[in-house]
Amino acid sequence: MKRKKLIIAGIIGLIMLTGCGAKSKESSDTKTSKKVEVVATNSIIADMVKEVGKDQVSIHSIVPVGTDPHEYEPLPEDIKKASEAEIVFYNGLNLETGNGWFNKLMETAKKKENEDYFAVSKEVEPIHLISNSKQADPHAWLDISNGVLYVHQIQSILSKKDPSNKENYQKHAETYINKLKKLDASAKKEFADIPIEKKLLVTSEGAFNYFSKAYDIPAAYIWEINTESQGTPEQMKQIIKKVRASQVPSLFVETSVDKRSMERLSKEASLPIYSDLFTDSLAKAGSNGDSYYKMMKWNLDKIHEGLTK
Ligand SMILES: [Zn+2]
Repeated sequence: MKRKKLIIAGIIGLIMLTGCGAKSKESSDTKTSKKVEVVATNSIIADMVKEVGKDQVSIHSIVPVGTDPHEYEPLPEDIKKASEAEIVFYNGLNLETGNGWFNKLMETAKKKENEDYFAVSKEVEPIHLISNSKQADPHAWLDISNGVLYVHQIQSILSKKDPSNKENYQKHAETYINKLKKLDASAKKEFADIPIEKKLLVTSEGAFNYFSKAYDIPAAYIWEINTESQGTPEQMKQIIKKVRASQVPSLFVETSVDKRSMERLSKEASLPIYSDLFTDSLAKAGSNGDSYYKMMKWNLDKIHEGLTK
């Protein structure tokens, strides 16, 4: 009995200690003002917001790392965070449309378009889907110059909502954009040495339209967008035909899709899957590809290695 009491006293003491520690740290970090509460639909957008907002923002990212953002079922935590948020950033361009999950979430959270929630892709020139010319391909961020447009948009909204930190947002965005522009310029040169017959980027989802256009590398896929059926016999027939007509040396698979169709293609076409690629999600924190910059660098390096085999 005595021992139990002692343990409880110890636990209470610990809570008080860590509680005090956290409090004093927070007050020193946020002496200027309260943080802006931001919600982002996925890890890529959340990372860009972090780069621009740094210590001035607190971010909740909705779709978990490694998961498909096209279709999602918001959790009670997401609804709570979205309701409380000052700003919600989403990709737009037909990304968060599976089951209409994002619009439903904004309705539940009582948020208004362009007042509370904003598409980071606003300035992007859309590329449309082949199967549905009315719908845009959402994966604009895979062209780094579009990523730069996303960052501009994030900077502009943060500055509007929190004008007292406008200069900070501008400074952070400029540094970040310079870094991205350097990577974009080197990527534009990177694929020049790949022979034309090997130049085909094969992935599960057709996520690389913007990437192909920017870096001059044709892409092929099993299915066009994650919201449609994946790996049907007709889709498999078409991609095998395309792969066999080329001399492409390897295949790739995205981290945020079911890998079984690509494994089937690999077997049937007798081609290795060279590497994972990051399309719709960052990598887990602490691993390769855990920021937008690092995921793009990883993709560019791996695609180059895989196609020069
Ligand atoms: Zn996708």
